[in-house]
Amino acid sequence: MSEQWEVVEEPNEYVIFNGERGTSQFAVAYVPKYAAHDSAEHARLVAAAPELLGTLKLMVASCPVCEGLGEIEDGPEYLLPIGEYTQDYMSCPHCSDARQAIAKARGEEHP
Ligand SMILES: [Zn+2]
Repeated sequence: MSEQWEVVEEPNEYVIFNGERGTSQFAVAYVPKYAAHDSAEHARLVAAAPELLGTLKLMVASCPVCEGLGEIEDGPEYLLPIGEYTQDYMSCPHCSDARQAIAKARGEEHP
């Protein structure tokens, strides 16, 4: 299970905390309150990030198209020339966007 983040409203900002309240809790992010932006919505989105990421990882690991591999065969095998056993693969179209979002959250480049 991923960690839990919590939003606490302060007079001028929303503070996203990580850890157990009153013990190991520390601020992860600050979302200033601006009249032109829905700061509370942004703060809730940031606070939900660990759960969103954890859920996304579970979903791509059980992708019904690529079975969690992230790739599928590019074209039917029967179209390969006789004696040709290598198969090209392509990024799974069903979970590719989710994998890119996970890579972005990890600070990784995604091919
Ligand atoms: Zn997939």
